[in-house]
Amino acid sequence: MSMEPAEVQARLEHILPRVQKPGRYTGGELNQIVKEWDATSTRVALAFPDIYDLGMSNLGLAILYDALNQQDGVLAERVYLPWPDMEAQMHATGLPLYSLETKHPVAAFDILGISLPYETLYTNTLNLLDLAGIPIRSADRASSHPLVIAGGHAAFNPEPMAEFIDAFVIGEGEEVILDIVRAFQAWRERGEDRASLLRSLARIWGVYVPSLYRVEYHQNGTIRKVKPLVEEAAMPVLKRIVGRLPPPITRFIVPFVDVTHNRIPIEITRGCTRGCRFCQAGMITRPVRERSLTEIMRAIEEAVQVTGLDEVGLLSLSSSDHDEIIPLVQEASRKFSDQHIRVSLPSLRIESVSVELMDQLMGQASRSGFTLAPEAATERMREIINKPISTEQLIEIAREIYRRGWHTIKLYFMIGHPLETLNDVRAIAELCKAVLAEGRREMGRRAKVHAGVSTFVPKPHTPFQWVPCDTMDQIRAKQALLKRELRDPGLKLNWNAPEETMLEAWLSRGDRRMGAVIYEAWKRGARFDAWQEHFTYEAWMEAFASVGLDPAFYTHRERPLDEIFPWDLIHAGVQKKFLLEDYRASLRGQTRHDCREGCFACGILPIYSDLRRQNPGEAWKCPEVRTPTRARAHIPVR
Ligand code: SF4
Repeated sequence: MSMEPAEVQARLEHILPRVQKPGRYTGGELNQIVKEWDATSTRVALAFPDIYDLGMSNLGLAILYDALNQQDGVLAERVYLPWPDMEAQMHATGLPLYSLETKHPVAAFDILGISLPYETLYTNTLNLLDLAGIPIRSADRASSHPLVIAGGHAAFNPEPMAEFIDAFVIGEGEEVILDIVRAFQAWRERGEDRASLLRSLARIWGVYVPSLYRVEYHQNGTIRKVKPLVEEAAMPVLKRIVGRLPPPITRFIVPFVDVTHNRIPIEITRGCTRGCRFCQAGMITRPVRERSLTEIMRAIEEAVQVTGLDEVGLLSLSSSDHDEIIPLVQEASRKFSDQHIRVSLPSLRIESVSVELMDQLMGQASRSGFTLAPEAATERMREIINKPISTEQLIEIAREIYRRGWHTIKLYFMIGHPLETLNDVRAIAELCKAVLAEGRREMGRRAKVHAGVSTFVPKPHTPFQWVPCDTMDQIRAKQALLKRELRDPGLKLNWNAPEETMLEAWLSRGDRRMGAVIYEAWKRGARFDAWQEHFTYEAWMEAFASVGLDPAFYTHRERPLDEIFPWDLIHAGVQKKFLLEDYRASLRGQTRHDCREGCFACGILPIYSDLRRQNPGEAWKCPEVRTPTRARAHIPVR
């Protein structure tokens, strides 16, 4: 029998004085929603498998929290993973994982929805299930256990977590979460078994139920075939999208403790039309849909009023591409600057308009760091990755940034791109020095350059999904070169340990068999893998050895063009044929312009043509569809 909330509260009071930042574990913040437990028939726990400080900044979960709590008969509450000091106390006192709002154990909820925006949360997810007292493997759960669903960008290759999650949401969650709740309620009414619930979920557009598929392998370990086992199991599972972005949510919960982003996040655009070939988010979030200036301004005003927060982030994969960005920034500066509300644009293209926009937004505020992400330092390399900009232009923009008073420019690069040579890596150091020289001309020794150099991992559903990842030796050699070259008090270099890159690559490129590795690594103490101080490479190596899989199989193999990928059973809207053409174009050094200027037929439009037709106008950035609806349903409605 699960523990009563009063008992959870009593144990909490006993242990909270012994842990760091107890405010992470109490709930009770401004704008949290507490519905009456006994009067609500369907209860959903929404979990972020890392600590409160990170989870509170997750916009996806905030959207679902709002959408679910708006429904009669449904409640949603929040769950985060405890930091190790709290976990130790929970074990010592027998306290199960609980929700912040009403302190009900997670196991008492009907549905547990887990956000998986990135892959290094997988061992934490197992830990979360364990702390909640829910069987780790889907196959071991009974009807009395919560239904365990997960979604987020990592779910676009769900296979490594297939054993542990009952159903994945592929794509945008606003509408599908309500379909799932309705299917759950109908199933409960019918009083059928858990297998029948899973089959009914598989009927929903955008839901993938891994246990309803069998994967067969070739002798060499590659996939021979994926077989749906029941007629409800779609093949492939098409990503869910909304035809029109609903109004942004505004009633954000205001934390008591410092969190990663203590700001109001307003999503101004979803999707990206630029087509950077390394960028998974850019490919899987198409089509581009924008919110109007009026809608955004209204949301900012409302959110400022109900939260009292003084920073607003206008979120998008490429904020300066919003059609109305200049009037939006002008309007926001005019309206909010005298209220001391800071408006930020976290992801800007490298172009002079970005500098002007930032200049307007900053007003008299202190100008510390300005971020540019060229991703590669030679023009050749930037053409290969489809982020074309000339070095001359880049330097000019850097000069303009220093001239307007910023003293630090943060430059983000990646090493390990396809066809990269040591000269391309050396060019990173040269470009950093050239930018610093511009700064020194403008402001002397106060000018600084911070170079962040991560390592490229070829992600599923991108034009680079066929290419191998650098080996640890290659990464070390490239990093050593940069450390040698970037020695100047004005230059600072940050990089990722090669071991962390390997983990990201195994998890994002893995197949179903990786599930056993994840489980074994977790058993050996792996958790908080995204945290440098907690990541233990040895646990993962031992896990691979115990399962008998070769980690290099997932990372360092150039994959044949006809290989069936583990993630091929997910259709992200963009066709594999288009990705292949684009990969070939990259090998020829051919770039593709922003597809707002001309459609490349990536596959989005024919698949979602009905939705486009139902939503004519400028909000979508794909061309209008004028032909009458054809009899064929593009979207599986079953
Ligand atoms: S369908 Fe055309 S316009 Fe739309 S995302 Fe694809 S390439 Fe771009």
